Amino acid sequence: MKIFCIGRNYADHAKEMGSEVPDEPVIFMKPKSALLQTHTPFYYPEFTNELHYECELVLRVSKNGKYIQEKHAGNYYNGITVGIDFTARDIQDELKKKGLPWEKAKAFDNSAAVGKFIEITPALNKKNINFSFKKNKELVQKANSAEMIFSFDKIVANISNYFSINIGDLIFTGTPAGVGECVVGDELEAFLENDSLLAMEIK
Ligand code: MG
Repeated sequence: MKIFCIGRNYADHAKEMGSEVPDEPVIFMKPKSALLQTHTPFYYPEFTNELHYECELVLRVSKNGKYIQEKHAGNYYNGITVGIDFTARDIQDELKKKGLPWEKAKAFDNSAAVGKFIEITPALNKKNINFSFKKNKELVQKANSAEMIFSFDKIVANISNYFSINIGDLIFTGTPAGVGECVVGDELEAFLENDSLLAMEIK
């Protein structure tokens, strides 16, 4: 099982990070050990002093594939939820400055939290999905899938040019503007439309 993540997929987030809007999806990965298991507490990692949340729509791969055409990409995932791409921002800033890989900042244990998956049915308009994120009951991120620079199908097609995708793989599709810090005791909750699919506390 692999976890793919897309960076800078919302123009307003790229802007808040001082990054350019990419002309091809920015892909990075997290290992299986990054997946926060259900009912497992999330502990603030000891190696960072600036832990950030990034709320994202997450797809679940349902079919093995490679070199998938965009027009067929919709057949390769069947579930969607909201998740958090936890990021040690201080570590990432250091690594970025040095031009080094991001893994220490992005791929650490439990850095990928996902909510309850919803089946993707024809009734769901994938180009019009609202999602939002609250920290301590205050709305801090809110976006619609239409705002993504690269659509779900474009992302799946692009990933599959480089990596096989396999049943059970997860794809974090990027975060909108509003990322920020979280500290011990914070309560985090993520919504797809009006449904709360993920709720957790930083221990
Ligand atoms: Mg992210």
